[in-house]
Amino acid sequence: MAEIIDGKALRNKILADLKSEIEKYEKKPFLAVIIVGNDPASKIYVANKKKTALELGFESVVIEMPENVPEIELLKKINELNADKNVNAILVQLPLPPHIDTEKVIESVLPQKDVDCFHPLNTGKIAQNARPFVYPCTPKGIITMLNEYKIPISGKNAVVIGRSNIVGRPLAAMLTNLDATVTICHSKTRNLKEITRNADILISAAGSLGLVSADMVKKGAVVIDVGMNRNENGKLAGDVDFEAVKEAASFITPVPGGVGPMTICTLMTNTYELFKLQNNL
Ligand code: NAP
Repeated sequence: MAEIIDGKALRNKILADLKSEIEKYEKKPFLAVIIVGNDPASKIYVANKKKTALELGFESVVIEMPENVPEIELLKKINELNADKNVNAILVQLPLPPHIDTEKVIESVLPQKDVDCFHPLNTGKIAQNARPFVYPCTPKGIITMLNEYKIPISGKNAVVIGRSNIVGRPLAAMLTNLDATVTICHSKTRNLKEITRNADILISAAGSLGLVSADMVKKGAVVIDVGMNRNENGKLAGDVDFEAVKEAASFITPVPGGVGPMTICTLMTNTYELFKLQNNL
């Protein structure tokens, strides 16, 4: 029976430490978030980010722009935030409406303020095993959990299901940099089960309810579930068949209460890191 990795408890511990750390500074870290349009899920994510930032004693602003905002207006706003010495971290909530060139927007954020680590300069650094200004929130949150539970990474077979720029790709690169032997799977992968059964560390970031069943998991594997799906009862559920897989795994993350809390926690620690870098602290 697997040990449950408690992302919520770890988040609470890290944020409590961060809160007392922040108290010693007169000037506080400043996180600016831009949201375009009215996507209900994005609105909830953004509200949670601002709430957590304010609870920590950070400065935070959410800039709301209408769905039909011209791309140039969004780029102008980002430039203003880039130039504002008080703003340490900039996050543009994705997805953006189709008339806006997401790549252009990501590239317009100053890499030194790129709190999500989406800018190609920062992701390129990860690909080269060099140091980005900060690491991307979800992958870094996962590595933090593995470290906290003293789960070895070096020399292990890690399988990542998903190759998005937000989760799968940077996570695979970070695990490679930590000396794991990494396989990336995606929707065109053949014989997924054969590959996942070889994983010492299996991470699913596909967004596919129940994708990972017990017969896909090697006995004793560490299973990390990034997926956020709705089940038939409308409840939040991951990619992994939690009840069945926890019998075979050695460690497993629940959904909710696993990777999700660590993502927002890492956003806060990243904001603090950028604040320190920009203020030579
Ligand atoms: P995404 O951009 O939709 O990417 C999903 C990836 O999974 C793609 O690479 C896709 O392959 C692959 N995939 C989809 N179905 C598959 C299947 N049946 N078999 C194998 N591969 C499959 O999603 P994302 O932004 O990375 O997010 C993934 C999931 O994590 C979502 O549920 C999202 O809500 C969740 N998420 C959670 C957090 C958190 O903090 N907990 C953070 C970010 C994302 P192709 O490339 O071939 O299309």
